[in-house]
Amino acid sequence: MNPPEAFHIMVKPTGSRCNLECDYCFYLKKENLYHNGTFKMSDEVMESYIKQTIEAHHVPRVTIAWQGGEPTLMGLDFFKRAVELEKKYQKPGIEIENTIQTNGTLLNEKWCQFLHDNKFLVGISLDGPREMHDAYRRDKKGQSVFDKVVKAIRLMQKYKVEFNILCTVNAVNSKYPLRTYKFFRDKLGADYLQFIPIVERDNESGFQEGFRITDRSVQPHQFGEFLINIFDEWVRRDVGKMFVLFFDGILASYVRGYSTLCILRPICGDGVALEHNGDLYSCDHYVEPNYLLGNIQRTPLIDLVGSQKQRTFGLNKSKILPNFCIECKFLFTCYGECPKNRVLKTPDGESGLNWLCSGLKDFFIHTEEEMKIMADLLRKGQPASEIMKILAEKERQIQRSSNKIGRNEPCFCGSGLKYKKCHGKNS
Ligand code: SF4
Ligand code: SF4
Repeated sequence: MNPPEAFHIMVKPTGSRCNLECDYCFYLKKENLYHNGTFKMSDEVMESYIKQTIEAHHVPRVTIAWQGGEPTLMGLDFFKRAVELEKKYQKPGIEIENTIQTNGTLLNEKWCQFLHDNKFLVGISLDGPREMHDAYRRDKKGQSVFDKVVKAIRLMQKYKVEFNILCTVNAVNSKYPLRTYKFFRDKLGADYLQFIPIVERDNESGFQEGFRITDRSVQPHQFGEFLINIFDEWVRRDVGKMFVLFFDGILASYVRGYSTLCILRPICGDGVALEHNGDLYSCDHYVEPNYLLGNIQRTPLIDLVGSQKQRTFGLNKSKILPNFCIECKFLFTCYGECPKNRVLKTPDGESGLNWLCSGLKDFFIHTEEEMKIMADLLRKGQPASEIMKILAEKERQIQRSSNKIGRNEPCFCGSGLKYKKCHGKNS
């Protein structure tokens, strides 16, 4: 079997160790996998990982992605050494990019200077304004860390560190989509957002088993509503200025026929997870014994990434889809979303339906027309942001026509509803 030309590894240099204790964190329980673990990646494992990753890539850009647990607990010297090793093994014509996902609480001036100088792209976890962030993301004593995170963002802005916000969508903040979005945009000046739904299985193991979902998980319809409200604001005001990863991922399916996001693609499995001791797992969400591929100190990394076991893992994303999904109009942009969230039965009793399905479908239906317009613009070589002018013009026309139409007459937009029930509802 041919090894992949490129792949993505989430590296966990501290394993599951973190200075916070977020209620919904799926990674803290991974501590149980390494009872006698050091939870500190050794220099040998780091060197082996960097060397093998660079050697195995046959594309112009290699991404080294640091994650956790909380990777900044390793200290700045660890990352200075990482950059040194990257330079040592860098191949001519190959660019190396570092990303780091952090809770932000340990970032200070020195860190920000380093992140800027070495062009790290930082993902910072923040669930919205104070009361939303504090709902589930606190330190080990239950104290708020909101101020520390905002301070870290201000420091990154001062040092011109490139960053994006990773916001989980959970039972609390899902009720306040626009407050959350406008807080990031208007109060923080952030322009790159990732919204990650919390769908957490209610069990002791922390593995993807059992079918009960915790109360702090987002409800399916609430997730759809959350995305729809933000999309409606974004598509009228912010296209090309604000980047919402999920929207871009779906738009890519409309333009090219496949998404850039693993959760929305027919096959996944090119994003693996590396534990602090060199153990490699099929995915960040499947760090559990059945999905252990091997250890990069004993088996070449490329053999593990290209193994039959990993290939089967990726192919199963489509193979185990219920018919309900196969027949779905939005299969091309959803593919049943992530297998880890497939805990429901379909209306005819087949298992494997995604917890988020009804919300995702609401979102796909609501955004279809606008996604098609943007895809069309991009195919013609025009920026997707042109949609804002198109929608503004459409709304002006609606306004003009509404001045001439009776509230009980059929709406001119062709919905079949009376004007007052359709576009007249806010007038
Ligand atoms: S299991 Fe889910 S998160 Fe992991 S690679 Fe597949 S789609 Fe992506
Ligand atoms: S929207 Fe629902 S039915 Fe359609 S592919 Fe996605 S999960 Fe399956």
